Order: sequence, then C-alpha cells, then structure tokens
Amino acid sequence: MTQPVVIIGGGPVGMSLALALHKQGVAAEIHDLRPRGAAAGDQRILALSHGSQQILANLGVWSAIKATPIFDIHVSQRGAAGRTRISAREEKVAALGYVASSSDIAMALDNALEAANISYIGESRLLDVTPADDTITIDLSDGSLHAQLVAYAEGRIGESVHVVERDYDQHALICRLTPAKPHRNVAWERFTQHGPFALLPFEGDYAAVYVCAPQDAERLKGMPDAALLAHLQNQFGPRVQFTAVSGRFIYPLGLRYREHPTAPRQVWLGNAAQTLHPVAGQGFNLALRDCMALAHCVAVATDPGAAEVLTRYAANRRLDRRGTIGITDGLIRLFSNDNPILKHARGAGLIALDLVPPLRSFLARRMMFGARAW
Ligand SMILES: Cc1cc2nc3c(=O)[nH]c(=O)nc-3n(C[C@H](O)[C@H](O)[C@H](O)COP(=O)(O)OP(=O)(O)OC[C@H]3O[C@@H](n4cnc5c(N)ncnc54)[C@H](O)[C@@H]3O)c2cc1C
Repeated sequence: MTQPVVIIGGGPVGMSLALALHKQGVAAEIHDLRPRGAAAGDQRILALSHGSQQILANLGVWSAIKATPIFDIHVSQRGAAGRTRISAREEKVAALGYVASSSDIAMALDNALEAANISYIGESRLLDVTPADDTITIDLSDGSLHAQLVAYAEGRIGESVHVVERDYDQHALICRLTPAKPHRNVAWERFTQHGPFALLPFEGDYAAVYVCAPQDAERLKGMPDAALLAHLQNQFGPRVQFTAVSGRFIYPLGLRYREHPTAPRQVWLGNAAQTLHPVAGQGFNLALRDCMALAHCVAVATDPGAAEVLTRYAANRRLDRRGTIGITDGLIRLFSNDNPILKHARGAGLIALDLVPPLRSFLARRMMFGARAW
C-alpha cells in the first residue's frame, strides 16, 4: 500500500505537520528513531510568536500548553547608547508572543495525535530513500514502505547534502534566572561584547540564553552557582537583579540551511531545512509556518508529492524563509562584535527604532507573523 505522506522525525515540527495535514484531510504517519514520548524530555524553552500561538490554537493544542505571555520586549546593548522597547499595547495585540517549554509543546501535540488517531511509530530509523516517478520507497530500520511524499523533520541537516553554512564559533548557555522583583512579562534582548543575552519571562523566572565563546560556555557551565550568578549579573547590567540561577546546559550555535528545501517526492521542514541561531527565537516559529504552508499546498492536490505541489510550496516559502534566515544572521553579525564604529551604529539604529514608531512596528510585526506581516 502507498501512504500519501510519511513524516521522518516526531519532534514538535513533525507532529505539527501531521496535525496540520490531518486538518486538511491528508493522511500521514510519523516515524522516529527514538521511542514515542522522547520529545517530552527536551529542555529548551521557546519563545513563540503571536502567529505561532494562532497556528497552535488552530491545530487544537494551544489550550493544553502552559505559556507565559510577553507584553514588552526591551532591546539594548551593554555599554553603549540606544535602546528600544516594543509593546503589545502599541501593536494592539494581546501579547507580542509567549514563552513555553518545548517539552510541554511536545506533550500537547502528542496527545492531539493520539486523539486524532494519527500513527506515530517509535524506534523506527530512516536508512535510505529511493524516489521513482509515482512513489518513493522508504527503507526504515523496521521495514520498507512506499509513499507519495516524504517530509523530513529530523531536526538536523545531514552532512552529505549541499548546505549553506556559517559557524559563529559561539555556544549558548541556557539556564533559569530568578529575578528579585516580578518580571511583569517583560522580555529582554541585550547585546553584550560576547554575544546576545536574552531573558524570556517564564512562569515566575526568566529563561536565559547567554551566548559566548565555546570555551567560556564550558567554563561557566562548571562554575559554582554564586560565581555564575555574579558573572551573568555583570554581563546583563543592573536593570534586572537576579537572586538565583538553576538548570544550566549548553548548545553549539551556527547557521546551516539547505539551498533547496525540496527534491523529487521529498520536502524538508524546520531544523531539517534550516538550523538557525536562537537569538531571535525563530526556528520553531518559522517551522510552524512551513508546516501550515505545506498542508495547504498538499490539500488541493491529488498527488501530494507531485512536482508542481513541491514547486508551489517552495515558491510560497521563499520570501519568509530567506527573510528570517537573513534577519537572524544579520543580527548576530551586527551585534556580536566589539568594533567601536559598529557599536555606535548599533546605538543609532536602536535610537532610530525608538524614535520612529512605524519602523518599530514593522520589526515587531515581522517577528510576530513572519513575512506575511508585509
Ligand atoms: C538554545 C536554543 C533555543 C531556541 N529557542 C527558540 C525559540 O525561542 N523560538 C523558536 O521558535 N525556536 C527556538 N529554537 C529552535 C527550536 O528549538 C527548533 O526549531 C525546534 O525544536 C526544532 O524541532 P524539530 O521537530 O525540527 O527537531 P527536533 O526536536 O530535534 O526533533 C527531530 C526528531 O527527529 C528524529 N530523528 C532524527 N533523525 C532521524 C532518523 N534518521 N530517522 C527517524 N527519526 C529521526 C529525532 O529522534 C527527533 O525526535 C531554539 C533552539 C536552540 C538550540
């Protein structure tokens, strides 16, 4: 029997795609090399855009996710002039975005799959694929099957393909910081000489992402709590006082993306198509938009893997994908640099954003909705 769509990878992106396809009446089954439920062990805390909240609500899972709303985002750089503040009130939305744990999102999606009776086959590793004219053969560790379309949501880009790559030579140290005073749902993005330092309000604490050189991240990870707290306080500055630090781990950072997210009877989504630096918190947000666009393209086709369907999908995603990759990469290269001329230019840019509300509003809407904000 030939399946319409087989999804490789049952993380948040693969599960979202299966639900989005189901909503459009297209059957899909998921195969993941890990046992079912493993995605609930992911420790990442994600900033979800306003647009992502709408997508997750549309997929019927939003009410099961414990999310902390963001009412204001404060952007500044340490040791230089210029700052800007983006507010939900000014943008006339209930919240600029939300903060939720990846594990909570995964559990909500998994429960929704079960309720919709969508197959999730765990401990099933992709070994090989062979595309033909009408179908594609998929060899998995537990057998072979045929599909019209394979959607990859494996969370990483393999080594054997042509990718565009940038190594920022940076690691992210992730931890929780307890503020001395209630955070009042304000998120902070502070650019330090080492890299960005983001604070996301999450429950009563801040989920912190501190970007620095790989050797510094290793050293900080091994520090006693008091020394790490003092270091992070010093890097952030006095605007928010921290009283405790907990739960630290590190991730290497880079940018990798496939030039083409499609091939005959195959499509790559989320981190399998583009792995972004987490500075702007865009990876999962962009992936959700990928999933919705693919589900819409597939819904109106008799053959979900037909070349014209994949061409339409790639064209539909080009602007948002390139724009999000470009903004994230540009932010890192502009702000992770201690050049004094650039430092002033950045300060001027932030002041300009603060003084020109339409410009700030443009940036806010771009972050909230992706390219469709235009
Ligand atoms: C530090 C950090 C902070 C981030 N912050 C944000 C944020 O604030 N906002 C945001 O939008 N994004 C953020 N991101 C990005 C976000 O975490 C990712 O975009 C998202 O988790 C990717 O989900 P995924 O389902 O594509 O991948 P994963 O969660 O990695 O899932 C991939 C799945 O595929 C399976 N798999 C792999 N290979 C195979 C195979 N050969 N056969 C079968 N199965 C396979 C794996 O077992 C896994 O279950 C952040 C990322 C990092 C590193």
